[in-house]
Amino acid sequence: MSGDPVNDGPARGDLAFLARAVELSRLCPPSESAFSVGAVIVGADGEVLSEGYSRELDAHNHAEEAALAKLPDGDPRLRGATVYSTLEPCGERKSRPRPCARLIIAAGIPRVVVAWREPALFVAACQGTELLEEAGIEVVELPELADAARAVNAHLLGG
Ligand SMILES: [Zn+2]
Repeated sequence: MSGDPVNDGPARGDLAFLARAVELSRLCPPSESAFSVGAVIVGADGEVLSEGYSRELDAHNHAEEAALAKLPDGDPRLRGATVYSTLEPCGERKSRPRPCARLIIAAGIPRVVVAWREPALFVAACQGTELLEEAGIEVVELPELADAARAVNAHLLGG
């Protein structure tokens, strides 16, 4: 039916878009030293603007970065968009100067939905959520999909 994405979002839309991100995370080239993550960027009207996954465009890509790279700089649709990521956006990283949280802030995206918080495995404490919230971005965690997001990374988690 005619969906108001704002009102329908949290109940059904958010879970469906995050489930799509989990699907994308299964496409990641395998790595022994980095998580496999999927990301979907959805506009205010519920249109999928871009998708990405870890190591999609180059060996060091993060999912959110790959999805953002497919959109023009300053795309006005990003100002009303939501990023769905299977993993909390990184707040620091070794391979690039700007972590995904900074890229999301710079893009003007107001809302982020994640399935899973980064475990202290590759960086001591991921400050991604803190960075986003300090910038006024709403961060929503949907633990319903945390197991699915983790399962793609079971080889890194010793389970
Ligand atoms: Zn990242």
